[in-house]
Amino acid sequence: MTRLAMSIDLDMCIGCNACTIACKAEHGTQRGVFWGYILQKAYGRTPDVTRLFLPVLCNHCEEPSCEEVCPTGATYRDERGVVLVDYDKCIGCKTCIAACPYGVRHYIEKEESYFQDTPVPHGIGELGGYENVVQKCDLCVDRLQTGSEPRCVEVCPTYCRKFGDLEDQNSEVSRALAGQSSFVLRPEVGTKPRIHYLMKRKLVLSA
Ligand code: SF4
Ligand code: SF4
Ligand code: SF4
Repeated sequence: MTRLAMSIDLDMCIGCNACTIACKAEHGTQRGVFWGYILQKAYGRTPDVTRLFLPVLCNHCEEPSCEEVCPTGATYRDERGVVLVDYDKCIGCKTCIAACPYGVRHYIEKEESYFQDTPVPHGIGELGGYENVVQKCDLCVDRLQTGSEPRCVEVCPTYCRKFGDLEDQNSEVSRALAGQSSFVLRPEVGTKPRIHYLMKRKLVLSA
Protein backbone atom coordinates (compact mmCIF):
# COMPACT_ATOMS: atom_id res chain seq x y z
CA MET A 1 0.00 0.00 0.00
CA THR A 2 1.30 3.44 -0.92
CA ARG A 3 2.07 5.80 1.96
CA LEU A 4 2.90 9.22 0.61
CA ALA A 5 5.07 11.40 2.82
CA MET A 6 7.44 14.35 2.83
CA SER A 7 10.70 15.01 4.62
CA ILE A 8 12.03 18.50 5.30
CA ASP A 9 15.66 19.06 6.27
CA LEU A 10 15.63 22.01 8.67
CA ASP A 11 19.40 22.44 8.36
CA MET A 12 18.82 23.35 4.72
CA CYS A 13 15.69 25.53 4.90
CA ILE A 14 16.64 29.19 4.46
CA GLY A 15 13.18 30.59 5.11
CA CYS A 16 12.85 32.09 1.64
CA ASN A 17 9.10 31.35 1.50
CA ALA A 18 9.30 30.27 -2.14
CA CYS A 19 7.19 27.28 -1.07
CA THR A 20 4.62 29.50 0.64
CA ILE A 21 4.11 31.69 -2.42
CA ALA A 22 4.23 28.80 -4.91
CA CYS A 23 1.51 27.04 -2.93
CA LYS A 24 -0.69 30.14 -3.01
CA ALA A 25 -0.15 30.54 -6.74
CA GLU A 26 -0.79 26.86 -7.43
CA HIS A 27 -4.04 26.73 -5.51
CA GLY A 28 -5.28 30.29 -5.77
CA THR A 29 -5.92 30.53 -2.06
CA GLN A 30 -7.59 33.63 -0.71
CA ARG A 31 -6.07 36.59 1.07
CA GLY A 32 -4.73 35.54 4.45
CA VAL A 33 -5.05 31.82 3.68
CA PHE A 34 -1.80 29.86 3.62
CA TRP A 35 -1.95 26.10 3.16
CA GLY A 36 1.78 26.04 3.91
CA TYR A 37 3.78 28.57 5.89
CA ILE A 38 7.11 29.06 7.67
CA LEU A 39 7.55 29.54 11.42
CA GLN A 40 10.84 30.98 12.59
CA LYS A 41 12.75 31.46 15.81
CA ALA A 42 16.19 32.79 16.70
CA TYR A 43 18.43 30.80 19.06
CA GLY A 44 21.57 31.80 20.92
CA ARG A 45 23.20 35.08 21.88
CA THR A 46 24.91 37.60 19.56
CA PRO A 47 27.17 36.92 17.74
CA ASP A 48 26.36 33.20 17.97
CA VAL A 49 22.80 33.37 16.73
CA THR A 50 21.10 30.72 14.62
CA ARG A 51 17.71 31.16 13.04
CA LEU A 52 15.51 28.10 12.69
CA PHE A 53 12.89 28.02 9.94
CA LEU A 54 10.12 25.47 10.31
CA PRO A 55 7.92 24.84 7.27
CA VAL A 56 4.41 23.80 8.33
CA LEU A 57 1.65 22.21 6.26
CA CYS A 58 -1.02 19.57 6.73
CA ASN A 59 0.71 16.46 8.05
CA HIS A 60 -1.54 14.06 6.15
CA CYS A 61 -1.66 12.10 9.37
CA GLU A 62 -2.08 8.34 9.43
CA GLU A 63 -4.59 8.72 12.24
CA PRO A 64 -6.08 12.15 11.47
CA SER A 65 -8.18 13.64 14.24
CA CYS A 66 -9.85 15.88 11.65
CA GLU A 67 -11.28 12.87 9.82
CA GLU A 68 -12.35 11.22 13.05
CA VAL A 69 -14.56 14.14 14.13
CA CYS A 70 -15.99 15.18 10.76
CA PRO A 71 -19.75 14.59 11.07
CA THR A 72 -20.46 14.29 7.33
CA GLY A 73 -17.48 12.31 6.06
CA ALA A 74 -16.29 15.35 4.09
CA THR A 75 -12.76 14.82 5.37
CA TYR A 76 -11.39 11.53 4.13
CA ARG A 77 -8.17 9.75 3.15
CA ASP A 78 -7.51 8.49 -0.34
CA GLU A 79 -5.83 5.15 -1.04
CA ARG A 80 -2.37 6.74 -0.72
CA GLY A 81 -3.10 8.34 2.63
CA VAL A 82 -3.66 11.86 1.32
CA VAL A 83 -6.13 13.62 3.62
CA LEU A 84 -8.66 15.53 1.54
CA VAL A 85 -11.87 17.55 1.93
CA ASP A 86 -14.92 16.89 -0.23
CA TYR A 87 -16.47 20.36 -0.53
CA ASP A 88 -19.80 18.81 -1.57
CA LYS A 89 -20.08 17.20 1.84
CA CYS A 90 -18.47 19.93 3.99
CA ILE A 91 -21.02 21.93 6.01
CA GLY A 92 -18.47 24.39 7.43
CA CYS A 93 -19.08 23.32 11.03
CA LYS A 94 -15.35 23.84 11.87
CA THR A 95 -15.21 20.72 14.07
CA CYS A 96 -12.13 19.61 12.13
CA ILE A 97 -10.41 22.94 12.75
CA ALA A 98 -10.86 22.46 16.48
CA ALA A 99 -9.66 18.85 16.31
CA CYS A 100 -6.49 19.43 14.26
CA PRO A 101 -3.53 19.88 16.64
CA TYR A 102 -1.52 21.72 13.98
CA GLY A 103 -3.61 24.75 12.98
CA VAL A 104 -3.45 24.02 9.27
CA ARG A 105 -7.14 24.17 8.35
CA HIS A 106 -8.89 27.29 7.12
CA TYR A 107 -12.55 28.23 7.13
CA ILE A 108 -13.73 29.99 3.97
CA GLU A 109 -16.92 31.92 4.62
CA LYS A 110 -17.28 33.27 1.09
CA GLU A 111 -15.27 33.68 -2.07
CA GLU A 112 -13.22 36.84 -2.17
CA SER A 113 -11.16 38.33 -4.98
CA TYR A 114 -7.83 39.97 -4.31
CA PHE A 115 -8.92 42.95 -6.43
CA GLN A 116 -12.31 44.27 -7.48
CA ASP A 117 -13.64 42.76 -10.73
CA THR A 118 -10.96 40.08 -10.92
CA PRO A 119 -11.78 36.37 -10.85
CA VAL A 120 -12.03 34.80 -7.45
CA PRO A 121 -9.03 32.71 -6.43
CA HIS A 122 -9.49 29.32 -7.98
CA GLY A 123 -8.78 27.29 -4.82
CA ILE A 124 -12.52 27.04 -4.40
CA GLY A 125 -13.92 28.99 -7.33
CA GLU A 126 -12.82 26.63 -10.06
CA LEU A 127 -14.70 23.87 -8.33
CA GLY A 128 -18.02 25.66 -8.64
CA GLY A 129 -18.38 28.50 -6.18
CA TYR A 130 -18.09 26.74 -2.85
CA GLU A 131 -18.53 28.80 0.29
CA ASN A 132 -18.84 27.96 3.97
CA VAL A 133 -16.27 25.18 3.65
CA VAL A 134 -12.97 24.26 5.29
CA GLN A 135 -9.88 23.85 3.17
CA LYS A 136 -6.24 22.93 3.67
CA CYS A 137 -3.14 21.56 1.90
CA ASP A 138 -4.19 18.74 -0.43
CA LEU A 139 -0.61 17.58 -1.08
CA CYS A 140 -1.11 18.97 -4.60
CA VAL A 141 -3.24 15.96 -5.43
CA ASP A 142 -3.92 17.21 -8.97
CA ARG A 143 -0.21 17.34 -9.66
CA LEU A 144 0.27 13.84 -8.25
CA GLN A 145 -2.20 12.50 -10.83
CA THR A 146 0.14 13.65 -13.60
CA GLY A 147 3.26 12.29 -11.90
CA SER A 148 4.51 15.68 -10.69
CA GLU A 149 5.74 16.44 -7.20
CA PRO A 150 3.94 18.85 -4.86
CA ARG A 151 4.64 22.42 -5.89
CA CYS A 152 6.41 23.31 -2.63
CA VAL A 153 8.85 20.44 -3.19
CA GLU A 154 9.51 21.41 -6.78
CA VAL A 155 10.28 25.10 -6.15
CA CYS A 156 12.47 24.79 -3.05
CA PRO A 157 15.86 26.25 -4.03
CA THR A 158 17.77 24.22 -1.44
CA TYR A 159 16.02 20.90 -2.17
CA CYS A 160 15.35 20.50 1.52
CA ARG A 161 11.98 18.88 0.83
CA LYS A 162 11.82 15.29 -0.42
CA PHE A 163 8.62 13.52 -1.37
CA GLY A 164 7.44 10.03 -2.23
CA ASP A 165 6.18 6.67 -1.03
CA LEU A 166 7.43 5.46 2.35
CA GLU A 167 6.78 1.89 1.21
CA ASP A 168 9.27 2.30 -1.65
CA GLN A 169 12.79 2.23 -0.22
CA ASN A 170 14.12 3.89 -3.36
CA SER A 171 11.79 6.88 -3.20
CA GLU A 172 13.33 10.28 -2.50
CA VAL A 173 11.67 10.52 0.90
CA SER A 174 12.70 7.02 1.95
CA ARG A 175 16.30 7.70 0.95
CA ALA A 176 16.32 11.03 2.81
CA LEU A 177 15.05 9.40 6.00
CA ALA A 178 17.07 6.16 5.82
CA GLY A 179 19.45 5.84 8.73
CA GLN A 180 18.70 9.39 9.89
CA SER A 181 17.16 10.57 13.11
CA SER A 182 13.96 12.43 12.29
CA PHE A 183 10.96 13.78 14.16
CA VAL A 184 7.35 14.78 13.61
CA LEU A 185 5.39 17.61 15.17
CA ARG A 186 3.53 16.88 18.40
CA PRO A 187 3.97 13.08 18.41
CA GLU A 188 2.24 12.94 21.80
CA VAL A 189 -1.20 13.59 20.27
CA GLY A 190 -1.07 10.28 18.39
CA THR A 191 -2.03 11.46 14.90
CA LYS A 192 1.08 9.91 13.29
CA PRO A 193 2.07 12.74 10.94
CA ARG A 194 3.63 12.00 7.57
CA ILE A 195 5.64 15.19 7.38
CA HIS A 196 9.02 14.21 8.82
CA TYR A 197 11.66 16.72 9.87
CA LEU A 198 15.43 16.22 9.83
CA MET A 199 17.87 18.34 11.81
CA LYS A 200 21.42 17.66 12.95
CA ARG A 201 22.15 21.11 14.39
CA LYS A 202 21.91 21.52 18.15
CA LEU A 203 20.07 24.73 19.00
CA VAL A 204 20.62 26.34 22.38
CA LEU A 205 18.12 28.81 23.77
CA SER A 206 19.72 31.99 25.14
CA ALA A 207 19.57 32.34 28.91
FE1 SF4 B 1 12.60 26.57 3.18
FE2 SF4 B 1 12.62 25.52 0.74
FE3 SF4 B 1 10.41 26.77 1.67
FE4 SF4 B 1 12.61 28.20 1.04
S1 SF4 B 1 11.33 27.01 -0.38
S2 SF4 B 1 11.33 28.40 2.90
S3 SF4 B 1 14.25 26.79 1.65
S4 SF4 B 1 11.29 24.86 2.47
FE1 SF4 C 1 -5.94 16.47 9.75
FE2 SF4 C 1 -4.49 18.33 10.95
FE3 SF4 C 1 -3.43 15.89 10.53
FE4 SF4 C 1 -3.84 17.56 8.45
S1 SF4 C 1 -2.42 17.90 10.20
S2 SF4 C 1 -4.40 15.36 8.55
S3 SF4 C 1 -5.71 18.64 9.09
S4 SF4 C 1 -5.17 16.37 11.90
FE1 SF4 D 1 0.82 23.63 -0.81
FE2 SF4 D 1 1.01 21.44 -2.30
FE3 SF4 D 1 2.95 22.03 -0.57
FE4 SF4 D 1 0.55 21.26 0.34
S1 SF4 D 1 1.99 20.01 -0.84
S2 SF4 D 1 1.78 22.99 1.12
S3 SF4 D 1 -0.84 22.15 -1.21
S4 SF4 D 1 2.36 23.23 -2.39
